[in-house]
Amino acid sequence: MLSITQLSKYYGKNHVLKDVNLSLNKGEVLCIIGPSGSGKSTFLRCINLLEQPTSGAISYRGKNILDKSLNVSSYRQHVGMVFQGYYLFPFKNVINNITMAPMTLLKENREDAEKEASQLLEKVGMAEKKLVYPASLSGGQKQRVAIARALAMHPDLLLFDEPTSALDPELVGEVLKVMKKLADEGMTMIVVTHEMGFAKEVANRVIFMEGGYIVEEGSPKDIFQHPQNDRTKEFLARFI
Ligand code: ADP
Ligand code: MG
Repeated sequence: MLSITQLSKYYGKNHVLKDVNLSLNKGEVLCIIGPSGSGKSTFLRCINLLEQPTSGAISYRGKNILDKSLNVSSYRQHVGMVFQGYYLFPFKNVINNITMAPMTLLKENREDAEKEASQLLEKVGMAEKKLVYPASLSGGQKQRVAIARALAMHPDLLLFDEPTSALDPELVGEVLKVMKKLADEGMTMIVVTHEMGFAKEVANRVIFMEGGYIVEEGSPKDIFQHPQNDRTKEFLARFI
């Protein structure tokens, strides 16, 4: 589905991503772990074309997405993103937050868009909050609405950038549960997270990034039980 080769990104003189290579199959759940500043968010943002890589290649379903003639907005419809902050529209109620993009970008009519939004809210356990405004929701509820909103665009691939990092500890579980459900349903996902329990349980593959490099990559068992690299071992020791 996604193939990334020799990806490199500079911010000015700061070399943030260095020779990053990755291939991802449909249905895979890839978790990216690593210390702050290691380039994880930049990597996701390059995949989503929120940032332009300095060099390297990204191909999505065999198409080079760095090609200048690519329709970026159509590509982004296939690749959803959920951020640490939820970025819900504050002056729209929950259901209108979800229907806006499908109605404007996919030209769905209101009735269909609302019907689907209701189903998605059901899926994330937010059906009874349809008509409320984001300000009255908890962080965990906002994030579940943000996930429903991303799903409303029918993405093939969902990127999550530390979706639970801003949440109070007691709200983390409800969001991870929704993400696990999506994974179980076969959604292809790349998840940057510090939730090692989630990575162990849900990921097919785990990547450890540091200093702009993919330092180590393997199954959750490889990474968490038999890490090979000293940097990986040192990082994981912080979570014990
Ligand atoms: P992580 O998500 O792993 O914490 P980031 O991808 O956010 O790491 O950041 C990697 C490096 O890139 C850091 O040194 C950060 O300061 C720098 N950086 C991130 N975004 C920008 C930006 N928009 N402009 C300049 N430097 C940036
Ligand atoms: Mg980050």
